[in-house]
Amino acid sequence: MKRVFSAARPTGNQHLGNYLGALKNYVALQEENSYQCLYCVADVHALTTMQNSIDLRRNTFNMVKDWIAAGLDPKRSIIFVQSHVPAVTELHTLLSMITPLNWLLRVPTFKEKVKAHPENVNYGLVGYPVLMTADVVLYKSEIIPVGEDQLPHLELAREIVRHFNYSYGPVFPEPQAKLTAVPVVIGLDGKVKMSKSMDNHVELSLSEEETTKRIMTAVTDVSRMRKSDPGHPDICNVFSLHKFFDLQNLEQIHYDCQKAFMGCVTCKQKLAQAINDELKPFRERRVMLSDEYIYDVIYDGAKRAIELANQTLTEAKEAIGLLR
Ligand code: SF4
Repeated sequence: MKRVFSAARPTGNQHLGNYLGALKNYVALQEENSYQCLYCVADVHALTTMQNSIDLRRNTFNMVKDWIAAGLDPKRSIIFVQSHVPAVTELHTLLSMITPLNWLLRVPTFKEKVKAHPENVNYGLVGYPVLMTADVVLYKSEIIPVGEDQLPHLELAREIVRHFNYSYGPVFPEPQAKLTAVPVVIGLDGKVKMSKSMDNHVELSLSEEETTKRIMTAVTDVSRMRKSDPGHPDICNVFSLHKFFDLQNLEQIHYDCQKAFMGCVTCKQKLAQAINDELKPFRERRVMLSDEYIYDVIYDGAKRAIELANQTLTEAKEAIGLLR
């Protein structure tokens, strides 16, 4: 079975954007039964931008909990925490010896981060793609689910792999992209992508009432001043969100909005209802998950990941010529 690998940084609680953009796809890949899926909470990666230990620990734990509540099955997928596999940092060091610095300095996201946070340009930020490559190849993963925007990162990982294999022999398979139609979920502000770092997201762990309250704050078509004004659903983010959750009523919502048959308050209430309906199984599962069970899953995931990782690391060290 080919291995699928994907990772996410625990920089905050999981939200609707993560659910639609990644989690549903994680579960779908697992359900295909054609791959061995490895899903990693990338806590070491999070350290490049996050220094709050309490938040990091809590987010890491909650991320695993949310993943399982969303339908990941620890018996079928390996769910683990990146820092629990020491081989990853060792392989990162080894790969960094063959990765030209100029490959890393030209990465667009590195340049963006330097621009956005010039006060926090740490060494880990430059080496981020090398650690990401180590993550992927340590498990000899061949399939990497990515959106188009992540293709440059994967291409860099493939370059590093080719360079290593050329220098020392064919140890790692070249990871291939599995392009997924990752939907861009715009946040409640109606401006930018829903994000953990912005106050524009809806956390999955919120209750029904809290979710409804959050949805009621969503920005709508700003040109619609009164309920009697016809709305413009095609430029309204609330309507965009309906597309993810309320497909069967979409035409009607569009019509009622344009004809001013429905006000924005009702429209948002309907959206909240549709989201709550979708998240019902998630919430029911989440409440049943004990902390003890989550720790067991994390422990078991680490054990299985370490076993695969150590085999690959030994092969890589042998190929490099490090004395046993
Ligand atoms: Fe947007 Fe709905 Fe209001 Fe139309 S009725 S403007 S789609 S919130």
